[in-house]
Formats: sequence, structure tokens, C-alpha cells
Amino acid sequence: MDASQFQAAAHAAIHHVTDYYENISDYRVVSNVAPGYLGRLLPTEMPEKGEPWDAIQKDLADKILPGITHWQSPNFLAFFPANSTYAAILGELYCAAFNCPNFNWQCSPASTELETIVLDWLCRLMSLPPCYLSTSSSGGGGVINATASEAIVTVIVAARDRALRALSSSITDDGEKERFTDQMRSKLVALGSDQTHSSTQKGCMITGTKYRSIKVKRDPISQNFTLTASTLRSALEAATAEGLVPFYTTVSLGTTSTCAVDAFAEIAEVAKDYPNLWIHVDAAYAGAALVCPEYQHLIKGVEAFDSFNMNMHKWLLTNIDCSCLFVKERKHLINALSITPSYLRNEFSERGLVTDYRDWQIPLGNRFRSLKVWFVMRTYGAEGLRRHIRNCLAVGTGFYERVKKRPDLFTIFTPPAFGLTVFSVNVDGDLKARNDITKEVYEAVNAHGEIFITSAVVDGTYTIRVVSGNPRAEDRHLARAFDIIVAKTEEANLKRRR
Ligand code: PLP
Repeated sequence: MDASQFQAAAHAAIHHVTDYYENISDYRVVSNVAPGYLGRLLPTEMPEKGEPWDAIQKDLADKILPGITHWQSPNFLAFFPANSTYAAILGELYCAAFNCPNFNWQCSPASTELETIVLDWLCRLMSLPPCYLSTSSSGGGGVINATASEAIVTVIVAARDRALRALSSSITDDGEKERFTDQMRSKLVALGSDQTHSSTQKGCMITGTKYRSIKVKRDPISQNFTLTASTLRSALEAATAEGLVPFYTTVSLGTTSTCAVDAFAEIAEVAKDYPNLWIHVDAAYAGAALVCPEYQHLIKGVEAFDSFNMNMHKWLLTNIDCSCLFVKERKHLINALSITPSYLRNEFSERGLVTDYRDWQIPLGNRFRSLKVWFVMRTYGAEGLRRHIRNCLAVGTGFYERVKKRPDLFTIFTPPAFGLTVFSVNVDGDLKARNDITKEVYEAVNAHGEIFITSAVVDGTYTIRVVSGNPRAEDRHLARAFDIIVAKTEEANLKRRR
């Protein structure tokens, strides 16, 4: 493909994309192709001769599009959103065009420096404590990871390294230090509440460290499944009594099932008694709300913690992948992750003048992700980001109010949070009967196919989760979603009465 063919193809692609977005609500939100459908449509061998873009684009429309689940549709109310915007798509285009794997500053100074700048902008916008700024006296700063899972495994590695160094710091003999460190490694344990996203447990599987899940109950204050200081302290004491060394915990700002917020300010007090405990805040989805000052009280206490991540690619108008990780002391990432073979040496790094993001992350090279962040921030401004979050919250609240007005049909399970409504379906009978009908309604709604929702089992209760977070969603979309859920509930009730 030469430059003029690229121009023609790109024009056609952009027309196709804008047309797709303009008409997105006409698509069935969830693809209903059968497993293996694509293998039946595409040849078993790649083409011997190159093909023109027209033919490729036609197959995209005819064969790929039917297998797409339309995350950008206002009828997508499942999981958490994955926002996409034209500004971010342009960032992806330039990122692909420059295509510079960003590992050392020297690889592309703008790529490194823009990443530092936009993350400092974001840190200030969310009012994260100043210790997470690149200019902080603690030596903090941010780095863009692909996903929250990657950010979490990265901080687990840094936490393990910090704990092992601290525990062995008084040993001077190298051999003895190594033996002691090997021994201690098997005693390290990470903890998280049973509402913590599975990425923490997976991070422990990857790093080969023990993991303890802490059972949390409904908290009488928040009415949600919040990790409190006393529950965490009991779990830390139990692990210590077992001869283990707690070295890491994830606390959540917005758990996946019910958007619970853990008790940060109280937990900050517990942290004082466990200097080797790295505390990470997973704010993958709900952290986006911090762009609005009215949510910033939620992060009281996080200056006592070690790291924080928020996915701009969930709710902040930036295409996947874009998980922003902030650390209070970058030296712990660098201590754990820096290796400098001769081919990576250069005078700027040697003289300590620059940031080399390869030392802050698992991969060596990384994409120029800060471009899309910069484009989004400049296109929307802080005001536009706040407006987006507040619109989504208003749309989410509208849905919650509708559910609340039908106590004959539904029970709200946890208070509405960050646009998420979690509820179950009422039925005469015990918890099993309620779980059965809720599951039946949930499955009937998704089988109908006009909207897509998810379920979650929390504390033994089967619940339906509805969340939008989509810039294209309006009250009328959620009103229709509610009507569909009511219709399926009434059908299920009727079936039971017969
Ligand atoms: N943390 C929370 C609270 C989440 O809800 C999710 C995914 O929804 C993740 C982490 C994992 O996100 P990622 O796909 O970026 O790894």
C-alpha cells in the first residue's frame, strides 16, 4: 500500500467508522454468532497475493462486524464501560504512525516526556496527593500501563522487592543474604478482600506469591461490601500468626461487583503498624469520578499508601489500552525492574538526566499512549471530562430511581454507586428462589439481545448489575432498558404463577 492508496483507504475507513458510530444503536448489541463462525468464513491459508483494500474492507463489514459485540452502543450496560472517542482514535492513529517503542528516553524523548506531563496533569485533576507527582519530594510519578492487571502485577513485583530488601537489610554477607531472601520469599503473603478484582490474585499467581482472600460483610455504614480497617487488621494478624509476612494488599475504589469503596482513611492507620505492607489502590473504573471535586473526599488517606491505578480506557473517554499507574516512590519500581545490558546504555540514562520507562514496567518497549491521553485532555478540557462523568452519573441515577420505584418487582442490593445499580428480582420464597428468578430474568434479557447486562453473585445473592458510563447513552436508552427488564420479569412471574 503506497501513500495515495493509504489516503484512499483511510478515507474509506474513516467514513466507515463514523457511519458505524452514527448508527451504532441499530446493531444487536451482543454478537450472536456461533463459536467457530469465522473459521467457516475465512480460508485456511493466508492469501498468496496481496489484495486491494476494497476487498479487505468488504470482508470486514461482511465477516468481522457480525462477530463484534458493540461496546460503544448505548445499549451496552454490562461489565464496566470501555469508552472510545474520536480524539483518542486520532491519538491511536498517530501512535501507529510514529510507532516508536518507548523504552529509553532516547528512543523518543517526546514520548517519555509527554507521558510524564499528562500523568502529572491527571494527578492534579483528580486531586491525588502531591506525593504521586513526578516532581514530588518522595520521588513519585506515573506510568501508563496497558491494563490494570499489568499495573497490579507490576506493583506486586515492586512490593515484593521492597519487602525482601527491608527484611534482609541487616545481613551483610552476600551468601547469607541470598539464603535468607530465598527463605523469606516463600513466607510473603498478599491480601485482598473477596470483592477485590481477580487481577490481584492473578498477579500473585504470576509472581508465585501466596494470596489470602479476606471475607467482607456488608458494612453497616456504607451498606456495601467495604473492606474496613478492623477486618484488614484481623487478616494481617491471622497471617502473621501463621508465620507469614504480609507484604502487599489491594484496596479498592469501586469494586467490580458493587462498586464498594474500601475504608481508606481507617486503613491508613493500620498501615502505620505494617511498614513492609505495600498498599495499592485499584480505582480501575470508579477512579474516573475523581475528576469531579465532589468525589475527591473518597481518597482521603491515600497519601499513606504506595500506589494507585485508574483506567482511562474504562470511563474517561480514552480507547483501550490506557491504565494510569501512580507510585509514591518510583525507586521501588526501578529497584525491582531495572536491568541495563550494554545495548541499552546511553549517555542520557548514565548521567541520570532522564526517565527510562523500561525501568518502571514489565515490557521493555511500550506504545506512545500518552498521545491519545493528550488529545483527549485537550479536546475535552477538564470541564468536558467532568461534564461527561456527571452526565453518566445522572443517566445511571435515572435508572436506579426507576428500579427503586418498583419495590413490588425488585430489591436494590447495594446503594447506587458511580452509575452502577445492583438489584435482584423479588419472588415469594427463600434466597434460592430469589436467586433462581433473578438468574432467569438476567438470561432472558440478554437472550432478547436489545441490551447487554451482567450479573454478579455477592455474599450468596445472585444480582443483576446495570451500568452505562457511555458518552452516547441518554436517559431514553436506560428507560428502554428498564422496560425490557420489567417485561422479562413479568414474563418470569407469569410463568411461575401458571
Ligand atoms: N480492577 C477492577 C476494579 C476492575 O473492574 C477491572 C476490570 O473490570 C480490573 C481491575 C481489570 O482491568 P484490566 O482489564 O484493565 O486489567
